Amino acid sequence: MLEAQGPSGSSDCRSPRASEVSYAGQMLEVLPQVYLGGAAAVSEPDHLRAAGISAVLTVDSEEPSFQVGTEVEGLRRLFVPALDRPDTDLLSHLDRCVAFISKARDEGRAVLVHCHAGVSRSVAVVTAFVMKTNLVTFEEAYGHLQSVKPDAKMNEGFERQLKLYQAMGYEVDTSSAIYKQYRLQVVTEKYPELQNIPQELFAVDPATTLEGSNDKVLYKCRKCRRSLFRSSSILDHNEGSGPEAFVHKRMTLPFMVSIGPRCTSYFIEPVQWMEFSLLGVMDGQLLCPKCRAKLGSFNWCGEQCSCGRWITPAFQIHKNRVDEIKALPVLGSQTRTI
Ligand SMILES: [Zn+2]
Ligand SMILES: [Zn+2]
Repeated sequence: MLEAQGPSGSSDCRSPRASEVSYAGQMLEVLPQVYLGGAAAVSEPDHLRAAGISAVLTVDSEEPSFQVGTEVEGLRRLFVPALDRPDTDLLSHLDRCVAFISKARDEGRAVLVHCHAGVSRSVAVVTAFVMKTNLVTFEEAYGHLQSVKPDAKMNEGFERQLKLYQAMGYEVDTSSAIYKQYRLQVVTEKYPELQNIPQELFAVDPATTLEGSNDKVLYKCRKCRRSLFRSSSILDHNEGSGPEAFVHKRMTLPFMVSIGPRCTSYFIEPVQWMEFSLLGVMDGQLLCPKCRAKLGSFNWCGEQCSCGRWITPAFQIHKNRVDEIKALPVLGSQTRTI
């Protein structure tokens, strides 16, 4: 893809060097010392040298190979394997991508971030960098890049991931409800071809380990007292609009005051004891692993909470089937909102 001409109505954030370098036809300086490009940008080491680039971040399905003898001396590289598809998990790699760019710039290096076409994957990574370093929203960062590079257009899956990145405070917190919910959704998109569920998606069984026991709240089966899950497993949601949400009317106001039933279930991440019930079927019951009492249900396609909100996928435990055991006096709410 040729990006030689650069934008005509360019932003004032661009360094004047952008025009000097764009002769290479493959890359564009979108921020001082940060270049965006496609695969062609790395095919000519001379161009990298001419632009003073000594750090290259590749976000592509294949790592580019530099010909022997033409390497750029002292070149620092990072390769993040990623396809340009909405279901590609770029989110999990954003922190190290942003750290790589920041470190290179701190060392006075110019950085090239490139993918195959220089339009989606690399744009998403640089957008994350702009968001985090300037503490700006996804829209502001992406808008800025598009003003500099009008053909920048990331896929909608990356847009969603960058909004989650923003919601997490520009840092991927793998223990956050937001991240857990995201990972579950990625798996769900691959269901039902899925042969097994990645182990890391399961919360440890609180009955078998003390891990996480500093969580202040533990939930036990009301009938047999078996420990079932900890408060850190709850993927809380903003309450839906009550009965209105069950009526499929597009005109319903999103923030209508609820007059209907509140959430009567906990939606949680899957816990190890559920593993064998979840595989191979789209939905089913969740039974206590000890006394077989019915606790709730799951559905990979999602279920609607009593408050009206859809949760996908859903692992739902009825509040009246479990007891909340508080280890310490608690101030404020225990759960996080997604
Ligand atoms: Zn609810
Ligand atoms: Zn039980």
